Amino acid sequence: MKIKKDYLLAPGPTPVPPQVASAGAWPLIHHRTPQFRAIIKEVADGLKYLFQTKEPVYFMSASGTGMMEAAVANLMSPGETMIVAEGGKFGERWSEIGKAFGCNVVITKVEYGKAITPKQIEETLQKNPKARAVFTQLSETSTGCVYDVEAIGKVVSKTDALFVVDGISGLGAEPCYPDKWNIDCLLTGSQKGVMLPPGLGFITVSTKGWKKVEEAKCPRFYFDLRAYKKSLEQDDAPWTPAISLLFQLHEALKLIKSETMEGMWSRHAWLAEATRAGMKGLNLELFAERPGNILTSVKTPSGLDGEKIVQIMRDDLGVSIAGGQGSMKGNVLRIAHLGYMDRFDITTALSALEFALKRQGHAVKLGSSVAAAEEILWKDPK
Ligand SMILES: *Cc1c(COP(=O)(O)O)cnc(C)c1O
Repeated sequence: MKIKKDYLLAPGPTPVPPQVASAGAWPLIHHRTPQFRAIIKEVADGLKYLFQTKEPVYFMSASGTGMMEAAVANLMSPGETMIVAEGGKFGERWSEIGKAFGCNVVITKVEYGKAITPKQIEETLQKNPKARAVFTQLSETSTGCVYDVEAIGKVVSKTDALFVVDGISGLGAEPCYPDKWNIDCLLTGSQKGVMLPPGLGFITVSTKGWKKVEEAKCPRFYFDLRAYKKSLEQDDAPWTPAISLLFQLHEALKLIKSETMEGMWSRHAWLAEATRAGMKGLNLELFAERPGNILTSVKTPSGLDGEKIVQIMRDDLGVSIAGGQGSMKGNVLRIAHLGYMDRFDITTALSALEFALKRQGHAVKLGSSVAAAEEILWKDPK
């Protein structure tokens, strides 16, 4: 047998720590029991810590997109105006969901790789005074660009509109304070920064947002936040929860608590800094205007096919990274440093990237990116 190890450095799903993986194999218990309620209670506390909020955080069985749908269904009525910040594939997803629910979607756009600016949101709000909500990402995973959510929140808070943030890849890796930053709805999925397999989503809503949840007229049943609120007040879930994933979440939240959010943010910042240094060492150009701690995106060197590089790295070398989505296909390479990641994940990924580029005939000085990254990685994070 030919041995080839696999390394996962895609921006979701991300690697799962062994303690978390094995918790998924625990024998099932019934969910309407004091034993399971005790787990829900601890998970609910842990989620508030993860989200850095005083408000309850609800968990649902769905991938991240389910939480995006829950946000629209619970905060909007058909015909109402929603402003969407579109800077990539996930901004575009907000628009698609809004249209599916019959909302009047007003799009404010930036070129892929650029950051939505607070000024842009301010002007769009001025032109659309009836807008009921602004929808954006914390990190636009398709481009690797992180938005200035704090500054955008300030702008939105001066109006009656709600501020909804898709934190699906950002949460855990990028600082985010929903209560302080005027975020009315923040959501994420399990398979990115939270170090779980896919299948759970998490969502929180501010007091200002809850008023709207009570009146919103979009159809909703499974994702009706009112049902989750009623249940969570009793340490319960409205429908059969994903019991095994909740066991795993319970373990992951313990890890998060022991590392602390500040510790997670600085580890991610350190890995991101090292990865950017590595790309510079290879003379590769960063793609994102505001690169974040989640992933590092670079332009594919001219004359090379990015999809081929991704394929060589994955199929020949065992290192899974991500290419570009949509019109970015072939032109962008994305290495994630998200979730359960340490320094040697970065040196492995950069080393594989060097090999793949060299195999494609690109002039590479072997070790150049790894050496540059090691200048940052030999020390511990700040
Ligand atoms: C991954 C991701 C999504 C989609 O989440 P799924 O779990 O695949 O449904 C949405 N938004 C952002 C920013 C993401 O990174």
